[in-house]
Amino acid sequence: MEYNELMVRYGELSTKGKNRRQFIEHLRIDIKKKLIKFPITIKAGRDHLHILLNGEDPQPIIKKLQTIFGIQSICKVIRVDLAIEKIKKASLFLAQQAVPYSKTFKVKTKRINKNFSIGTFALNNLIGDLILENCPSLKVDVHQPDFELTIEIRKDAVYLYDNVIPGAHGMPAGTAGKVQVMLSGGIDSPVAAYLALKRGMRIEMVHFFSPPYTSPQALAKSKELTKKLIPYTGNSSIQFIAVPFAKIQEQIKVKVPEGYLMTVQRRLMLRLADKIRAQRHGLAIVTGESVGQVASQTLESMMAINDVTSTPVLRPLVSCDKNEIIALAKKIDTFNLSIMPFEDCCTIFAPPQPKTKPHLIKAREYEKLIDVEQLMTESLNQLEITSIKADQNYLTKEKPQILSLL
Ligand code: ATP
Ligand code: MG
Repeated sequence: MEYNELMVRYGELSTKGKNRRQFIEHLRIDIKKKLIKFPITIKAGRDHLHILLNGEDPQPIIKKLQTIFGIQSICKVIRVDLAIEKIKKASLFLAQQAVPYSKTFKVKTKRINKNFSIGTFALNNLIGDLILENCPSLKVDVHQPDFELTIEIRKDAVYLYDNVIPGAHGMPAGTAGKVQVMLSGGIDSPVAAYLALKRGMRIEMVHFFSPPYTSPQALAKSKELTKKLIPYTGNSSIQFIAVPFAKIQEQIKVKVPEGYLMTVQRRLMLRLADKIRAQRHGLAIVTGESVGQVASQTLESMMAINDVTSTPVLRPLVSCDKNEIIALAKKIDTFNLSIMPFEDCCTIFAPPQPKTKPHLIKAREYEKLIDVEQLMTESLNQLEITSIKADQNYLTKEKPQILSLL
């Protein structure tokens, strides 16, 4: 005997009323695409999605399922006909497998099919006794059992399982529309992008780079970070828009008082990101900001910067501590890339003492000292758009050669 199915529980999409069917269909297609190499059969029902294993090893399939948003949990199940002898056999098989790592057990029957001939209580007792008889080392513990056998009696069949593997939760990829993520080479913004994906957003990356002050590796690193997010998108690529920013920074450096360099620079970044968003029909901008983390992320700074647009600026990390963000960065495997020491356009241009409480009115005035429209047009005319693919390498080993702006 062996596990013959995976039972996938839907995440929050179960609560989506009329859209529910569309969400399920969306998820079914995502799962089908991701498992295309496996000779399995997928059946999407109203409450669960079933994957018939057709003899395949469940482990690599589960690993892939765990990267798909819209899945609450995955169970390895043994599916048998609605016959007591078959239920007994499967129960005993699972119990015997659990013996080496369990001292206690519990049987939990879910009798969804009310026409089944044996009641919940009676079946719990019957299977409980059977396990006690055949696995003498196991004792009953109804509160905290090491091994919990669930027997779900449904209309079509009986599903037995003893494990619930967590899924990635969230909403199916792309169901929420398209956004532009402002992606640096740092720790935070890739995590913010991941969280945007989790809520069903389709993402494109907007990255500011400043050659010759930033190296080709800094750009390549951001592309590598983008690559790490592809498995969560439901697609095989992510669009990456590199925005030249050096000329704007040079002008700001010459014209704007030092205390406002950072604020004005951030205003220009957001203005450009918003223009790109509009051109590409995005519905929001996502950043990796978290309140109070650095000078540009105080509420006063956010006010002075966000002033340039009425587009929603989504900040999934707004109340996360750095260590929480790092834990997520490690989980999605972006952390080691993020800490590689390549200069970002913001770090090369960070004034020694940026204002932590800039004034909105002053920020507006100082911004007028540069030719905003002309500089933006020039930059937007030189966008470099790349389709980031999982099988390409962007980082090379050449030595960086960067200039200093300050
Ligand atoms: P991160 O780790 O994401 O770089 P951070 O804590 O270093 O964040 P900042 O450098 O102040 O914070 O950046 C705040 C946010 O501004 C980033 O999360 C990102 O969304 C955006 N940002 C910063 N630098 C760039 C860049 N070079 N290109 C695109 N967006 C950027
Ligand atoms: Mg940064």
